[in-house]
Amino acid sequence: MILHLKSSVSQQDAAALAEQIKAFHITSNGTNILITGSGVKEVPTSIENSVDQFWVFPNDMQLASKNYRSEKREVKIGNVTIGGNTGNTLLIGGPCSVESEEQIRESSELLIKLGLTTLRGGCYKPRTSPYSFQGLGLEGLKLLAKMREEYGLSVITEARDATHIDEIIEYTDVIQVGAKAMYDQGILRACAKTNKPVLIKRGFGTTLQEFAQAAEFVLSGGNENVILCERGLRTFETGTRFTLDLCGVAWMQEYTNLPIILDPSHAMGYAYGIPNLAKACVAMGVDGLLIEAHPNPKVAKSDASQQLDHAQFEQLLNSLRPVAESVGYKMI
Ligand code: PEP
Ligand code: MN
Repeated sequence: MILHLKSSVSQQDAAALAEQIKAFHITSNGTNILITGSGVKEVPTSIENSVDQFWVFPNDMQLASKNYRSEKREVKIGNVTIGGNTGNTLLIGGPCSVESEEQIRESSELLIKLGLTTLRGGCYKPRTSPYSFQGLGLEGLKLLAKMREEYGLSVITEARDATHIDEIIEYTDVIQVGAKAMYDQGILRACAKTNKPVLIKRGFGTTLQEFAQAAEFVLSGGNENVILCERGLRTFETGTRFTLDLCGVAWMQEYTNLPIILDPSHAMGYAYGIPNLAKACVAMGVDGLLIEAHPNPKVAKSDASQQLDHAQFEQLLNSLRPVAESVGYKMI
């Protein structure tokens, strides 16, 4: 249930009302105080006079639901906005991991050359093996911040656990919550306390409902800047790394009000498949794409097989522009 309280209701009275109906969260949308919770199916008469608008939902997808807000939310990343009616498809590019200043500088220069704005690079890598490269940590974040400073790029990196959030907020523009981290409520709750955009990746065994509920953790805590990212599910198939769930994307477009970014790189796992998959993604009219690219993929310290080299990345962008235009979008 979501209640919009009348603007005359004070914060203190709102807290008492929330307590009365055992609601969980109190936030504000600038005009109204919002109370979100579960279980209540109609406005109790005792609080009727304080309520401006009221929504009930069949499940716990609430703030993210089109039934609450029919228009897609906008999220601002640096100087660009995605979602809403912007018609922007944001191409986020860069390596899987930040490995050195030289490497991340080359990635930055590629984006600048192509007129792109948003650089990705992992610093705290959620590796499956403890013996693999784990990322440069704080040193990597500082390199991203340096690129932001020198090139005016926005930067995005992932949080592997909640202890990284403060650093990530300080040094970057978008917090990525990875496929393995998206059930970590410490991370989600920490993301709720900032206004930085949060890109939540769908876990590879996560239902769409669970995915939406992860977004609710951030939204209900007061951060409206949430982006959903589909990056592939684990299926019986071993020929590709994961299986990109475009049906799930259609579901999210139908039922959620959040911008959607697609990550064909992690879904496919192999560079050869990325160009055509990326076209399929863009043809769905999505708000962004996340593509891994490395100056020399062969020596990449993580996800080497799926990263495009810079010539392939440039070619990809050129081939995506007309696809985006054909569905009323623009690659930015
Ligand atoms: C990544 O973006 O490099 C990454 C590790 O992604 P995921 O969480 O989707 O596996
Ligand atoms: Mn990766």
